[in-house]
Amino acid sequence: MNVISIYGDSWRRLQDWRQRLPHALLLSGPRGLGKGLLAQAFAASLLCEQVQADGKACGACLACHWFEQGNHPDFRMLQPAAQKTQEEEGGADKARRGGQQITIDQVRELDDFFGVGTHRQGLRIILVNPAETLNRSAANAILKVLEEPPPGTLFLLVSSEPMRFLPTLRSRCQALPITRPPAAIAQRALQEEGVENPEVWLALAGGAPGLAQTLASTNGTAWLDALIQALSSGSKLEVIATATALDKALKAVKGENPLPQLVDWSQKWLVDLSLASQGLPTRFYLRQRARIETLSTGSSLEKLVRFYRQLVKLRRESEHPLNARLFLEQFLFGYRALFVE
Ligand SMILES: [Zn+2]
Repeated sequence: MNVISIYGDSWRRLQDWRQRLPHALLLSGPRGLGKGLLAQAFAASLLCEQVQADGKACGACLACHWFEQGNHPDFRMLQPAAQKTQEEEGGADKARRGGQQITIDQVRELDDFFGVGTHRQGLRIILVNPAETLNRSAANAILKVLEEPPPGTLFLLVSSEPMRFLPTLRSRCQALPITRPPAAIAQRALQEEGVENPEVWLALAGGAPGLAQTLASTNGTAWLDALIQALSSGSKLEVIATATALDKALKAVKGENPLPQLVDWSQKWLVDLSLASQGLPTRFYLRQRARIETLSTGSSLEKLVRFYRQLVKLRRESEHPLNARLFLEQFLFGYRALFVE
């Protein structure tokens, strides 16, 4: 995805910093925008040996080649071990065993990196993504480095939840907030990537182009399709069988616990039902608009609002459910009751 064309203003801001780089930069904004890609593009452009007039990396020099292969000697990526093993080896079990946090050992491993000279551009870059997964001691260790930064060192932090990490670390960073791009720009960028019906995926992703692309490329996810089918059933929903099937689909998901996301998608569905019950067009589920309109006539706004509040509570529980299948049953029973007299 061409994040540079989507976030042109932010890119220009990054380029302004190029001449006088701070020690730490924080790119923050809602999940799924593509902030990590933007940070990578910036890192690549800083290390490139024939940078282009608009600041983009050339993509052809040796440094760019190394960078694309993940081998640039002056670049390090800090991310939770779970995320890393998931990307590298694709093993769900292994990913679950790996940590969900960036640990102090990972930060300590940078000591050697700081100790040796840089390759050619006189700059070393550490990309931390997502920065809110730095545990406390790891964040403190980075803070310590920033108190006496080795020359020519840039920390690029990326976060969807910057309020979740150490305020003292946050205050050390130059901030670059990234906001949702205008719909037309995001749609064009997705179209250029060959995404069909980009407006459908963007709506589902709440306007975040990165998430929209992920959803489109996997045609949603298996469990999202199953969830939509379940929610579409209304009063005919077979709770026990559906909970079992959804539980199985969720267990096949690698890495992160997907239950909170399931509740998020369901909340969006409830918003659409509430809109439809007031005669307004759906916002998130464009393809299921007709079905949602029909369903909404079988419930009431009062019931929908009440269940939405329950979902807010379920959203918190979903972070640490004791038993995912029971959780799903409880949720689906509550949902079906919306359409039963
Ligand atoms: Zn280059």
